[in-house]
Amino acid sequence: MRIVLLGAPGAGKGTQSQLLVKAHGVPQISTGDLLRDAVAKRTELGTRAKAAMDSGKLVDDATVLGMIRERLSKPDAVNGFILDGFPRNIAQAEALEKMLKELGTPLNSVVLMNLDLGILFRRLTGRRICEECGKVFNVFTSPPPSGKHRLMQRPDDKEEVIGKRLEVYEAQTKPLIKYYEAAGLLRVVDADADVDTVFKSIDRAVLKPAPVKQ
Ligand code: AMP
Repeated sequence: MRIVLLGAPGAGKGTQSQLLVKAHGVPQISTGDLLRDAVAKRTELGTRAKAAMDSGKLVDDATVLGMIRERLSKPDAVNGFILDGFPRNIAQAEALEKMLKELGTPLNSVVLMNLDLGILFRRLTGRRICEECGKVFNVFTSPPPSGKHRLMQRPDDKEEVIGKRLEVYEAQTKPLIKYYEAAGLLRVVDADADVDTVFKSIDRAVLKPAPVKQ
């Protein structure tokens, strides 16, 4: 299984990726997680990426593509992967296509997780992550059991940064919908349902054979 989960920040790509990992035994490759890890470890790459991330902008393509190339070359990606948060613009999508062509392992499908903008805003402002176990909660829709977790808010989930992230999605990432539609790879699922229902829709969507191109 080689798929991309496409969708605005807050659509639930991370949560669904984790379920797909469990069900299909292929790794989740999240450029956001890789970048946050680099920032936390204060590597040179992390230091370079931090300012763009904190302000809700995209990290430069060369940095992200280098990271992806390295990650895709690891042995656990041989049998497939779930790309979460990558590609984020047309240049990244073209570079990915080239990379996978060289490896002889093209994408099977791209799943667009569709969600209303108002809901996205609430999901992002309410999102909290446990510093210890990494579990994701939402203070509005799925609050944690009291006292059990040490919650933190991602710096880029602060209200003033969210607007910018959604703007970047509209301008740079949304064009990928047409790009993958033209390639016959796009599958669309409604992401405004409970986690299990969305998971079942994604699972069904990725199992569907690609439409025959004329
Ligand atoms: P995410 O966790 O996917 O929402 O990503 C958090 C932040 O990391 C984004 O707002 C960007 O600053 C950066 N980022 C993640 N993935 C990419 C990517 N593919 N290209 C550029 N920047 C990225």
